[in-house]
Amino acid sequence: MRLGIGLLFAVFGLFSYCTNVVTNPITGEKQRVQLSPQQEVVIGQQSQQKMAAQYGGLYKDSTVQKYVNQVGGRIVERSEAAQAPTPNSRYPYQFYVLSDPQTINAFALPGGPIFITVALLKRLKSEAQLAGVLGHEIGHVVARHGAEHLAKQQLGASLVNAVGIAASDNPNDAQRAAVLAQAVNQLVSLRYGREDELESDQLGFRFIRDAGYKPTGILELMQILGSTRKSGGAQPEFFSTHPNPENRLERLKNLITQAYPNGVPANLDEGRDRFAKAVLSRLSGQS
Ligand SMILES: [Zn+2]
Repeated sequence: MRLGIGLLFAVFGLFSYCTNVVTNPITGEKQRVQLSPQQEVVIGQQSQQKMAAQYGGLYKDSTVQKYVNQVGGRIVERSEAAQAPTPNSRYPYQFYVLSDPQTINAFALPGGPIFITVALLKRLKSEAQLAGVLGHEIGHVVARHGAEHLAKQQLGASLVNAVGIAASDNPNDAQRAAVLAQAVNQLVSLRYGREDELESDQLGFRFIRDAGYKPTGILELMQILGSTRKSGGAQPEFFSTHPNPENRLERLKNLITQAYPNGVPANLDEGRDRFAKAVLSRLSGQS
């Protein structure tokens, strides 16, 4: 009986992969995804503990956590990210700092959980730079890159199945647990493609500009990371998951020039003092 149902779902899944093309309201892009936004949220929440555990768990300073979550919240609140997945419903975005003091990176899971390592955070100098990181990651959520990736791995259909069964049936179902575990592994070791990164750069730029941040923060971020790399230090993990820094830097510069043909206004928010007070003063003395 269960096998029959499974088979039915598999056929349905294959069918839906071939026919399910949805238009993303923010990016305008037609995409193949099988997970509904609600299912993305479930999968993201299922994965977030494992993701955090890989990078030393959550950073244990609630002031720093709260601050980073506020900056992320401001970007969402004032940008189109508040209208994703639809104008009437919003992904439950959450922003977390991870304890890993060595790995310089940031990530997003489907449906809203976003992470930055303390190793990356402590290299930043302003709230606008932090906004650059978070805006880019919000871009991955809004563009539904995780769900696209799962669809390509043909995990999407089985997840729809697993999540569907979970809603109505035994939560300890072994098959469901296996499918979820596989998806979690996929997401935790996820490397987005070049196109996804460029798209997120573009979306992130739009979001932080709408939130009133000085968009050059994202350029400074690229330069800070680039100098870490050139000084012979460990290659920031950020570059292996986020390739082509030079190319991306050029494109970001072009976006900024297009948006501000007469130069970036001086009165945009940079938040150096706020960042120093909320983050740097609390991280100092720690390696
Ligand atoms: Zn990225």
